[in-house]
Amino acid sequence: MQYLKCGAEKFEFEIKPLGKLCKLCKSEVPVVTLTTQNLKLCKNCFSKIQQRRLSEAVKKYRMFGPEDRVGILLSGGKDSATLAHLLKKTFPEISFQGLYLNLGIRYYSDFAQKAVEELCESLSIPLFVYDLKAEKGFSIDDFVFTSFKDKICSVCGTIKRYLFSKVARELGLTVIATGHHLDDLLSTYLTLFFNGDFISIKRLVPVNLPLFEGQAKKIKPLYQIPEREIFFYAVLNELPLEGCACPHGEITPSKKIKGILEELEKENRTFKYQLLSVFLKGFIPLLRENFEESTLVPCKVCGEPTASVHGICGFCRRVNLLSRIEDKTLELSLAKWQKIEESSERQKWMVFDVREKEDYLKGTLPSAKWISPSLLENEKDLFKTFRPFREKNLLFFCYSGRLSYLFTLKLRKMNFRAYNLKEPEQILGIDQVPENG
Ligand code: SF4
Ligand code: ZN
Repeated sequence: MQYLKCGAEKFEFEIKPLGKLCKLCKSEVPVVTLTTQNLKLCKNCFSKIQQRRLSEAVKKYRMFGPEDRVGILLSGGKDSATLAHLLKKTFPEISFQGLYLNLGIRYYSDFAQKAVEELCESLSIPLFVYDLKAEKGFSIDDFVFTSFKDKICSVCGTIKRYLFSKVARELGLTVIATGHHLDDLLSTYLTLFFNGDFISIKRLVPVNLPLFEGQAKKIKPLYQIPEREIFFYAVLNELPLEGCACPHGEITPSKKIKGILEELEKENRTFKYQLLSVFLKGFIPLLRENFEESTLVPCKVCGEPTASVHGICGFCRRVNLLSRIEDKTLELSLAKWQKIEESSERQKWMVFDVREKEDYLKGTLPSAKWISPSLLENEKDLFKTFRPFREKNLLFFCYSGRLSYLFTLKLRKMNFRAYNLKEPEQILGIDQVPENG
């Protein structure tokens, strides 16, 4: 199985025999390697080891007990799916509640929601879905019209943290569990360290106690499990996943650091655990002695507690930017486009077909130009190709709308007036939608 992560990271795993007998049970066929110890294991022994790691983490940090109501933040990806599966298998007596935040990201959020619904159903975990567009009237995509257009993941993180905390309180949850794993923790430590953001490092621990009354405790039960093993676990246990295709996926500094950590691990198999120990046992206690917690005040707009010096929380400041944008149109319906085509407006538009060339040659929209999908891989080339059309409105289409939406977003981030064609499959002559659309 191949799994594409946000920001073009890729995981691959093929289930095939790795020897004759599993190193632990000595009876089953080994199909997976425990990376830190180079042990070749069968599915059952591998899964049991991960359950034991999770169980040790929960007990060591007293993450929750039978009296707690534990929310699990689900995204449709491998980390949170593995977290839910492991928690439910290891602690069947605890009452878990799945939480999914539908961020309104076109060609992504609804697919991810389906994967989350399937997962919760298979694990008998009740699911609460919060629909951002329906509740607040905006989506994460709308931020391409703001100064945050190059930092969509950062704005998305602020919105998610704010809403999950609020929703957890409204649902009466005492604990919320997230799928942060060993590689997430280490790459974020190093990114924050290089930025000199010691206050944030201090908070990056397996358990964060509530900062104010009614706030849920935040826990990271997977903090000692490497990302690669989480992926293996998800595949071996056939968990339903949305192969992350969020159109905003970025290669962030922390993702680059993950690559460096992988390289260092090749030299020293226990390197990641050594680094984790340096932070958890050495550096963070030192920071705690020297940096006090910031004082929280109620946000002047929404009333939620905030440490912001402006007295207005990060969520409200970002949402306020959207209120100044009048037109947030990123997609046109076929009917709307046909009206434009028949009017004098048409001369202000350029149309681009981003399907494979052979499909373009078989039939396309009138005067559409062909653009290679591979242009998406190089931002400089993308910019150079479209620079001559700076003054025009650009309309993109493909089979499913997914790929052309990526072009639309990328060019919007470069300040082009780009649009995507909705329901492209209705176009005459295009009646088959291949999977990669
Ligand atoms: Fe949010 Fe970025 Fe993840 Fe998309 S890739 S869901 S925008 S954090
Ligand atoms: Zn606020």
